[in-house]
Amino acid sequence: MVTRFVCFLALFVVVFTASACSSVPATAIDVDQAKQSRPNIIFIFTDDHASQSISAYGSKINQTPHIDRIASEGAIFLNSFCGNSICGPSRATILTGLHSHANGFMTNTNRFDSSQQTFPKLLQKAGYATAMIGKYHLHDTPKGFDHWMILPGQGEYYNPDLITPEGRVRVQGHCTNVVTDLGLGWLEGGRDKDKPFMLMLQHKAPHRTWMPAPEELGLYRDQDIPEPDTLFDDYKGRGKAAANTEMEIDRHMFFAYDLYCPLDKSEALYKHYERKIGRLNEKQRAEWDKHFEPENEAFRKNMKSMSPKQIEQWKYQRYVKNYLRCIAGVDRNIGRVLKYLDDNPGLKENTIVIYSSDQGFYLGEHGWYDKRWMYEESLAMPLVARWPGVIKPGTRVEELVQNIDYAPTFLDLAGAKPETPMHGRSLLDLARKNAGAWRDGVYYHYYEYPRPHRVPPHEGVRTGRYSLMHFYHEDHGYWELYDLEKDPQQTNSVYNDPAYAGAVEKLKVQLEALKQQYKVGVDE
Ligand code: CA
Repeated sequence: MVTRFVCFLALFVVVFTASACSSVPATAIDVDQAKQSRPNIIFIFTDDHASQSISAYGSKINQTPHIDRIASEGAIFLNSFCGNSICGPSRATILTGLHSHANGFMTNTNRFDSSQQTFPKLLQKAGYATAMIGKYHLHDTPKGFDHWMILPGQGEYYNPDLITPEGRVRVQGHCTNVVTDLGLGWLEGGRDKDKPFMLMLQHKAPHRTWMPAPEELGLYRDQDIPEPDTLFDDYKGRGKAAANTEMEIDRHMFFAYDLYCPLDKSEALYKHYERKIGRLNEKQRAEWDKHFEPENEAFRKNMKSMSPKQIEQWKYQRYVKNYLRCIAGVDRNIGRVLKYLDDNPGLKENTIVIYSSDQGFYLGEHGWYDKRWMYEESLAMPLVARWPGVIKPGTRVEELVQNIDYAPTFLDLAGAKPETPMHGRSLLDLARKNAGAWRDGVYYHYYEYPRPHRVPPHEGVRTGRYSLMHFYHEDHGYWELYDLEKDPQQTNSVYNDPAYAGAVEKLKVQLEALKQQYKVGVDE
């Protein structure tokens, strides 16, 4: 396969063809000559933001001008993936540079062992001022931060509580606005200005159950969001697990819980609705009801005459609109951070801004919400980065990158080194002379089963063209293979197609090699 590699350094931009992500351009400039001093890092991170709802990634359903601005003034990573598509594990991987089995946080029921090596601790040791604000979700106290304020667990959208070293505080407002306010407050007046800094600004949005900020409640009111091609997927052509999950919009998305449209008070999840809505103050509640109650009332009235398909379509619209409203709130707040830097040009010049999210999400593709699968929508992590004077504006990176790479990259930026080896690799190597070949496959492993959502454990390898998955659990026990060039929506596994026997053999060798490299299943 011929692919296009675009080097992401400013000074010598090299465009050439090479075989499948296998080499680094010999003529790329040494990144170490390009960076003048240790840059500041602002890492803006959300929860469950699907790349297909970012216009820089070609969204067909919304616009994200401020995220797009980071990409257009810097780089967008077009093949960026997680190693285990759920919240806590992705976060633990980002902190440690290790896959889940090695950092011990494989499912959301684990507790993070924060005594292990993490990049914030090493940055702090290297002289950086460090802060973590917002969603942490690792069931432990953050370590390695000069300043931290975290949401308890999943956190709340409205008037969130935050845990601080001095105890809990409740801050009035919508969580995305509040976290941004706190981050800007630290940048302006909280940090030690004699040091370079690293700020992790981590939003709850757009995590279930979606509650947009007052500013975005009116968006998309009089329009229909286009449905994905696979909203009514029949799950043929794949193993049995796809048809047996509990993450279908049709069957497993609840009126009171997910959609804030309680049908009656006897509904099982009505208490959830009451609890969430009960957090809103009088003004917030009036605004909320003004937007939702007329629609809810009309739906309750019409529901009996609607077909099951029409009801699913209504659910999709309510779900995806609230999701996209949450995204619009994130994007607006990213705009506030960029404006702060615009207003402080000296700071802007030496500050890298990165936007990412812990994994992808289904926005109705395959009839689903949620994540977990190795299928593309949940495997992909958005990743854009701006570094004035170093990353050439408009750079498009096609190499296979993964969340194991973030910690080594941050350390590299700071001129620091890990004390014990990490699985990932600094993304600056993509632009270094003589850095050696880049990876040509990423390793994936999901563990959490059966609750919630009944997605069985599976592992696999994703290359430039193929995705090979092994559903190894005793309830399942089968493989799937997708040819992403021919079947980008992954509706037909070709694992048993004789034409792909050679590809299967090679991919299995590659998967085994990755497992050995990362010591999967080996006790140390
Ligand atoms: Ca998540």
